Order: sequence, then C-alpha cells, then structure tokens
Amino acid sequence: MRRQGGLPAILLVLVAMGGFGFVVWRNAQPVPALRTIIPTEQQPTADAGGWQAILRAGFGSNSTPLPTIPPIGTPFVPPTLPPAGDTNLIPIPPADVSADLRPTINAIVTPTRPGPTPSPAGTEELAITAQSVTRPPSVWQPPPLIPPISRDPLGRDHYWFIRPVDSNATNFALFSYPYGSRGPLKDNPYRIHNGIDMPNPVGQTVRAAGSGTVVWAGGGFQNTFSYGNAVFIEHDFGYRGQPLNTLYAHLSAVLVTPGQVVNAGDPIGLVGNTGRVSGPHVHFEVRLGGQRYGDTYNPLLWMVPYVGTGVIAGRVVDARGNLLDDELVTVRDWRTGLVTDSTTTYIYDDTPTDVNADPLWQENFVVADVPVGRYEVIANVDGQRVSKIIDVVEGTTSFVELSPVQPATPQPANP
Ligand SMILES: [Zn+2]
Repeated sequence: MRRQGGLPAILLVLVAMGGFGFVVWRNAQPVPALRTIIPTEQQPTADAGGWQAILRAGFGSNSTPLPTIPPIGTPFVPPTLPPAGDTNLIPIPPADVSADLRPTINAIVTPTRPGPTPSPAGTEELAITAQSVTRPPSVWQPPPLIPPISRDPLGRDHYWFIRPVDSNATNFALFSYPYGSRGPLKDNPYRIHNGIDMPNPVGQTVRAAGSGTVVWAGGGFQNTFSYGNAVFIEHDFGYRGQPLNTLYAHLSAVLVTPGQVVNAGDPIGLVGNTGRVSGPHVHFEVRLGGQRYGDTYNPLLWMVPYVGTGVIAGRVVDARGNLLDDELVTVRDWRTGLVTDSTTTYIYDDTPTDVNADPLWQENFVVADVPVGRYEVIANVDGQRVSKIIDVVEGTTSFVELSPVQPATPQPANP
C-alpha cells in the first residue's frame, strides 16, 4: 500500500524542481533598461513625422507606464547670452509685502469651479459649458512627479520643469484663461495669453522651474510694464538645440539678481500683483528658441504632471484639416460621465507675437493634470458634435485629434 504513493511523490518533487528552475531562469534574464530622456540639446530626438505619426501609433491607448525615473543631475553649462544691462530692479523686502499689498488679496481672481455636472454615461448630448468643470480652486492635489521625465516610448514628451509654486498653494493653471486664449468669455478684451496663471496670495514663494542663470530680475522687462516685477531665467538645458527660458511675472518682490545661478526649486521671488493684473498671481511662461514674446509655448507641456495624472494634447480642426481658433473643448470622465475639464483652442492672430504649437505635437489645446483613466474629449465643429475616447496615462501626453466626420459618399441605390 505504501509503495503506491511513491510515484505521485516523485512527480511532485519533479514539478517543484521545475518551478524552482524556472524562477532561477527568470531572474537570470537581463533587466530591461529604463528609458530616460536627459534634457540636453545633445539628446537625439525621435520622430520628425509630426502628429500624423502620433495618430498612426495610436499613442495613449495601450501604453504601459514605466516606473518613476529619478532626477538626473545636469552639469551646469555657462549661458551664452550677454548679461542684461539696465535691469531697473525694483526689490521689495518681503517684510514690506504684507503692509503694502495684502489689502488687495480680496481682489484675487479665483478659479471658480462649481461641482461636477452629472451626465449619464453614453448619452448623446452633453451640455458643454465652461461652468461645468469640476475641481474647486484650493482642492488638495497629489504631489508632482519628479522631473525630468519622459515616459513616451518615442521620447516626444519634455516634462522637465517643476512647478513654480509649491504644492500646498495653487500650482495648477487657472483654467479660465488658458494658454492661447483671450480669457473666460467670448469677445473678452484680454490679450492672447502667452503663459499660464497661478492665482495665489501675495507673498507666496515663487521658485525656479529648472536650473539656469537669471537674465532679468525686476520691472520693465523687455520695455513693458505689463509684467510688473519679473524674473527671466535661461536654463542650463535646451531642447533640440534651442535655448529654453522661463518667465515669472507680477511678483511683489524679486529675490535674485541678474547673472545669479539658480537651481530648480530655489526661491526667486514672491507672488504679487505688479503690472497689468486683476489680482495677485504668478504668470508663468516657457520661451523656446529665443527670448522674445513670440517664442512662448504652452507651459502645460513642460511642467511635470502630478502623481497619478497625465496630460491631453490635441487638435481641433475643420473638415479640411485647418486649425480652429477659440473652440471649446470639454473632457468627460468615461466611467462616471462627469465633465472634469474644459479649455479653448489657441487663437492665432498671425502676428510675430503669436502663441506656438509644440514642435512635435502641433496641438492647439492642452488639458493638464488629468487623473489616469478613460475620457471622452468633445468639441463642437461647425455645429457638429465631435468626440474621441482616449486613455490618460500617468506622466505622459495622450494625443487626440477632433475633426468632423466627412459626410458619407452617396451610394447608388440597389435596383
Ligand atoms: Zn498670465
């Protein structure tokens, strides 16, 4: 009787040995190297095919997020620009800020985002208004990821900057005045926005978004007083051989001087309401390829996303493929049916101070800080509701193009 149990026992041992061998074999395989993009102009950049290639790749649908990549030390490269001459510095000691400027805090332009507008998933029509956006102004946000990251397997992303304001303050963009827009209302008198705004109380610390050298610190930047007290930084790293700069405007105080070398996160000023403002905030710009007003790009494609969030970039075009200006784009959570974000497409006024699309994405709208998940992105093009379903992946850009469906070619009726 006892011998009958021998064969199963031997089989059990053999299976166990096989399993152990498999584990050993798996661990002996080489670990796939993490792909990382070092923000330097020496870095080769992939894909010159533009957005057509992006659409073909269907990026954003089946992407697998990589682990968070730790920051990479970038050796300091001396700037090639001549030092700024007359800087017209207007330093205000931080101690004086409260006495002089605090009474104006009540005038702050607060992003008012009422509660979510319920909308049953799968319904055809959705009331699209900028007011249906969720996320109240001071809601807690997860911490940002650690820059630089580029999780896009084709290396198209460049989330290389930290946010210029701390996470316990408002460090996301005012949604009602996005990059490339004239403000929250049609026929709004605002100038086309070459940056993004982060409303915060006077005195909130403003930090360098990346390492670099201060080129300007004070009032009268580029002969305009619209910016109030501003800090302009040329960064140690460029993009595709082009210099990369950031601007921080409307400061109540500047804490740096021209020529000063700063690291990412160094305090460079305090939030204020100097210059042309309707309330205290920091106006943040990214300028690529030059330092002029016409060299700006959407900062939302350069600031590292929050943990657990990604970015939607896209194009709204007409049936012939032409970019459409100032069109409302709405983002709806596919699972809950709730509208979670809205923005408007860039307005191009055909001047040298135009806003610009990313060299690779060629987008005309960006929605940032979108929690990972599936979304419907919606626009109205010539009265036609156009939408696409996309998946948002942490730390990457998901690209979508919205264009009207071509009318079906009439088919001859069967006899
Ligand atoms: Zn602004």
